[in-house]
Amino acid sequence: MPRLAYVNGRFIPHASAFVHIEDRGYQFADAVYEVVAVQDGAFVDLPGHLERLRYSLGELRIRPPLGLPALTLIMHDLVRRNRIRDGSLYLQITRGVAPRDFKFPTATKSAIVMTTRRRPTAPVRPPADGVAVVTVPELRWARRDIKSTSLLAQVLAKQQAAEAGAFEAWMVDPDGFVTEGASSNAWIVDRNGVLVTRQADRSILKGVTGNAIAGLAAGRGLEIERRKFSVAEALNAREAFLTSATTFCVPVTRIDLQPVGDGRPGPVATALGRHYLDYAGRQEPPFGWAP
Ligand code: PMP
Repeated sequence: MPRLAYVNGRFIPHASAFVHIEDRGYQFADAVYEVVAVQDGAFVDLPGHLERLRYSLGELRIRPPLGLPALTLIMHDLVRRNRIRDGSLYLQITRGVAPRDFKFPTATKSAIVMTTRRRPTAPVRPPADGVAVVTVPELRWARRDIKSTSLLAQVLAKQQAAEAGAFEAWMVDPDGFVTEGASSNAWIVDRNGVLVTRQADRSILKGVTGNAIAGLAAGRGLEIERRKFSVAEALNAREAFLTSATTFCVPVTRIDLQPVGDGRPGPVATALGRHYLDYAGRQEPPFGWAP
């Protein structure tokens, strides 16, 4: 059976799934998206991803093409049809197809596409010695709280990281503070053992995974501070790590070739990674799913 994509109401073989050349997602990045991990046949943190999708659509005044219950049903159906047990689902909603004109078109229906992937995208098992990140200047727009497909700055950042042999790029604002990773949230465990990550305002995307991990950490008595941290503080921290739906929780052991702490994955990041993996494996499988 060919791998299927969902495109505007139809399940279509992935290889022959196309969208129109005047889709506003293609021309203006006038679109939002979500990536949801699938673990043991169940979506991980689905309510958080749906809530953020609703928020992103609302901020851009894109009318959802479907109600949330129908959307969820189709997400489950695509995962089932593609027999994804462990992997991820990508969902994109654009303002739709219209003759090219910057302002919002009237009476245009929003467009929706969904695809799935098998592991290894979700979750990437952290290498035993952690991962390296490089720092890059923050080049993005001022509404990073919206999960828009306007990702050119992240494309450049990820390419720079790849060319440096690093796993991720940490973007740094003009004041020297880390905002977040190109596709993940950035965390440190400071000298006092406090978990630190930037406050979720418009300067970063509010990570669904990071939020769940913060909950797990708080439940284990760890203190969490939502504030800015500099690259220098990260290098001086006990530990660093990153979180995202596709990587879960990954220890960061080098920043710009310099070691973080003793240069080895720290106990807090390692434990949180284990707890999250366990939590991810305990999510409700979709109705009727038989792996
Ligand atoms: N920040 C950015 C810029 C991202 O692209 C992502 C990945 N979606 C994240 C943070 C992490 O968010 P989540 O945990 O919801 O995947």
